[in-house]
Amino acid sequence: MPTEREKACMACAACCRPTEMLLAPADLARIAARGYDVGDCTVPSRKHPGLREPRSVGNRCYFLEGPGPGGPFWCSLYPDHPAGCKLYPLVYDEATGEAVIDKQYCPHWKAFQDYAADPARRAELLRVLRDELGVI
Ligand code: SF4
Ligand code: SF4
Repeated sequence: MPTEREKACMACAACCRPTEMLLAPADLARIAARGYDVGDCTVPSRKHPGLREPRSVGNRCYFLEGPGPGGPFWCSLYPDHPAGCKLYPLVYDEATGEAVIDKQYCPHWKAFQDYAADPARRAELLRVLRDELGVI
């Protein structure tokens, strides 16, 4: 049974339309393990040379599905979607060097305040950015 937060995401998908989510090597390996051609469904990052991001198709992430008749959006990679997608709307604040909630782009950020306050989750975002993506 989806949580209220998951229901909000399934009706929203704003962060998947489009996306510039950076993909770590482990993310690319999981995508390939699902049978996708990584060279086709991902593209070089425009902001971070050497990294890749999902291809956008018609202003939507390649992996975004839906909505169906009266139904929600969903990610075709779920539950193996990229680490950054799992952690969003936690994002990195360059000014403070901390993980913060993205109040600018996530329209339902208030529903994520407890989620974003979890120290383990905040530490995980910094670990992914530092150790898997090498961008901080
Ligand atoms: S994290 Fe925020 S922007 Fe992304 S789908 Fe959920 S509610 Fe929408
Ligand atoms: S990989 Fe999935 S969760 Fe991430 S942006 Fe694309 S559709 Fe959204």
